[in-house]
Amino acid sequence: MKEPNNRDLPFDLSLLTSDKVDICVIGGGPAGLESAIAAKELGARVLIIDDNPVLGGQLIKQTHKFFGSKAHYCGVRGMDIATILTRSVEELNIDVITSATVVGYYDNDILGILKEDALFPVKAKRYVFAAGASENMLAFENADLPGVYGAGAVQTMMNVYGVVPGMRALVIGSGNIGLIVPYQLLQAGVDVAAIVEVLDHVGGYHVHAAKIKRAGVPIYLKHTIIKAQGTECVEAGVISEVGDKYECLLGTEKTIACDMILIAIGLSPLTELLYQAGCRIDYVPELGGHVPFHDENMMTSQPHIFVCGDLACIEEASTAMLEGKIAGAEAYESLYGESKKSSAIVQQARTELSTIRTSPFEERIVWGRKKLTP
Ligand SMILES: Cc1cc2nc3c(=O)[nH]c(=O)nc-3n(C[C@H](O)[C@H](O)[C@H](O)COP(=O)(O)OP(=O)(O)OC[C@H]3O[C@@H](n4cnc5c(N)ncnc54)[C@H](O)[C@@H]3O)c2cc1C
Repeated sequence: MKEPNNRDLPFDLSLLTSDKVDICVIGGGPAGLESAIAAKELGARVLIIDDNPVLGGQLIKQTHKFFGSKAHYCGVRGMDIATILTRSVEELNIDVITSATVVGYYDNDILGILKEDALFPVKAKRYVFAAGASENMLAFENADLPGVYGAGAVQTMMNVYGVVPGMRALVIGSGNIGLIVPYQLLQAGVDVAAIVEVLDHVGGYHVHAAKIKRAGVPIYLKHTIIKAQGTECVEAGVISEVGDKYECLLGTEKTIACDMILIAIGLSPLTELLYQAGCRIDYVPELGGHVPFHDENMMTSQPHIFVCGDLACIEEASTAMLEGKIAGAEAYESLYGESKKSSAIVQQARTELSTIRTSPFEERIVWGRKKLTP
């Protein structure tokens, strides 16, 4: 790896010291962008680092309209929300480094950033980690055959890069991702053979499930995948019914012809960098598994590190944005003290979060958050 120097990098290295950066935001999805916007509007010097070429995180591939309230972009497509937030970042002149990955958290609170073939340090006074989550995988026979994908990866291929990765899909998992992605496949002219769900009920919102059912896609409840068939790539998936202990019931196997199998069985927060930073990590299944402990100000066990969005708890873009506002404003307050404007941002976001979390779909999250005790 070659030594980084100013001539090779498309920005001024002197920007990247704590004299120049108050708050470094890791991840430019909805959570990170809202935290950067809040902190910059309050007067902090902010730097966003994201490993994608464009800002927006998961939003850039979400062609469907959001629902909820107007304040949370109800009726607006996710990809358009990404454009709105990116425009605010540009208007506020927030420093951004894209196509750059934070690869380590080192002594003296220095981040290691990899961009192209250069590794360089960034030091800020406060960090907001908003790196999101990764897709969970499932172990079954031939799970490594080409044609077995994460559902989110298929959504990226299709909606960001215009590539349809197959012509007949079998989807495992019926949460919102397991319902939205197959619907988008149908819109792209791809056949969806079935959705398979191990529980006795559909996991995602009724509105998404209803669209899938209207399109005639069968949803097999109390079923799981046991193997993929094929020699060079996926040619079929074998599913079976499960019993009360989720054991596969012999004799109930069905073979479903398909050329891709989409795994949509949940997400796990990307906490690796926070382990390195010495943050306390708790295991709270309701929040997505291993999550950084954080208080209501989104502050971790390390007072200079804040978190928000899917990295803090697997939830939704709307809640990720609100948590981002709190994290950004609280990171600012921890440096410059509370102001009328900062406490208004925090109060407003907290009120909206509590309203969203009164929904029956949020019961699990509310319960999980109670387990995050100091
Ligand atoms: C298929 C799908 C459909 C969805 N539909 C909806 C919906 O309809 N409504 C809704 O409210 N929510 C929806 N969600 C959920 C929503 O997209 C997420 O909850 C939300 O995007 C989380 O925001 P975030 O900013 O925490 O993370 P992300 O949006 O994932 O953003 C994190 C960013 O950080 C970057 N990053 C990660 N690690 C690093 C690193 N080490 N260095 C630099 N950059 C890094 C990532 O590349 C990414 O750009 C959906 C999610 C999926 C996957």
